[in-house]
Amino acid sequence: MNGAGSKLCFYCVEYKKVAKDYPLNYAFVDHEGSTPRCYLHWQYECSNCKKMIHFNGIAWCSDCKEFTCLNCADEHMVKKKFLVYDYYYTIDCTKCSKPNPALDYAEFEGSHPFQIGNLVPIEDVVVWMPIHSEEAVSDQFPNPAWGANRVESMGNITTITILESLDKINPQSVWDANAPYWAEKWPEGGDFNHKYFIIPEVLRLLNIKEGEKILDVACGEGTVARHLANKGTQVTGVDYSNMIDYAMKRECEERLGINYLKIDALQISEVFGKESFDKVVCNMAIMDIDNYKSLFKQISEVLKEKGTFVFSITHPCFSVPTTITVRIPKDSQRNEDKIRMVKNYFEKRPTLVQWNPDSVQLLYFQRTIGDYINALQKVNMVITEMSEPQTSEELKEKFPRDTYLDMELVPYFLIVKVKKVTEL
Ligand SMILES: [Zn+2]
Ligand SMILES: [Zn+2]
Ligand SMILES: [Zn+2]
Repeated sequence: MNGAGSKLCFYCVEYKKVAKDYPLNYAFVDHEGSTPRCYLHWQYECSNCKKMIHFNGIAWCSDCKEFTCLNCADEHMVKKKFLVYDYYYTIDCTKCSKPNPALDYAEFEGSHPFQIGNLVPIEDVVVWMPIHSEEAVSDQFPNPAWGANRVESMGNITTITILESLDKINPQSVWDANAPYWAEKWPEGGDFNHKYFIIPEVLRLLNIKEGEKILDVACGEGTVARHLANKGTQVTGVDYSNMIDYAMKRECEERLGINYLKIDALQISEVFGKESFDKVVCNMAIMDIDNYKSLFKQISEVLKEKGTFVFSITHPCFSVPTTITVRIPKDSQRNEDKIRMVKNYFEKRPTLVQWNPDSVQLLYFQRTIGDYINALQKVNMVITEMSEPQTSEELKEKFPRDTYLDMELVPYFLIVKVKKVTEL
């Protein structure tokens, strides 16, 4: 348990970021290697159950000179900002029933037994005496959960920035900035994920027949449009970003009869007549489009009765930014060292994601699976099939680093087949 050596206490370090006069203590235990803790921020023995409990789950009663832990009595939540927290627990003393604050808040208000002299620490520790404790409050609330952040900092290189609004960002400019990357650095036919997991499923669900009229919404540099045109369909591709310039250039070089229009996906019902298309496809774009409800409505309008709409998205549950993958150790090349961490499935604010310091930024709009289903229902579209591509034995053998103990465990993509119906 001992052997923390010269490591500083994790809590002391965090508290000092907020309370400038906070004394830094050396760790007394090197807890789990990542949270070394000083004697003050270690564990205390509950007077009732005799168990050692984390200092944030136990309270001191200065009247009874007793510790009561969360397991021995009910806790109550008090909403108050202090240090890096926005609440604390009070725990009813098992002797006198008085609600006492857990030791994290007790320390902040100066009622910790070490501060008031009820107990004398047996290990060396400098005890903070809060003078201006009211000022010692983080300016960042709600504070992100420490546990997740700590694991993230140990094992992740992806940066996730949640935006309060789109005021300072223009989604189109994000795509325009990405255009050279996607269009020029992207292998023809798509990257690994598109080639083996997304496009084959999109095509399977579309089940195209020669001569069909298909609209490719947010077609980007035209990978899917070219696949469809090569199978003898009449394809129209729309995209408002500069990515479509590359698609148009390709079409000039190698004519497949694709009709490209540089327009916003949310203009399609203006530009095309009602029921103009047999099928509509939208590949890996809806999670980047703000007003998906309006998009679904317009797709329903331009689609023929009983027409098919197929879209692929990053999986709402298992993909960034909802879930991030960290590797511990960070530099490990083995997939069994990957941990998937759910951040916030219900997060609705727009989110900028940068996969690694060298990659482009992407703008995401997080939604739940229910959000998609309900929005489709409202515009007379029903889901007839969903696909969550999983790796195969063949791919595991061929690309073990991409698939083994990775895409065989969770799906990163969701491909949805929808039918337009007269009424639900
Ligand atoms: Zn400490
Ligand atoms: Zn107890
Ligand atoms: Zn008491």
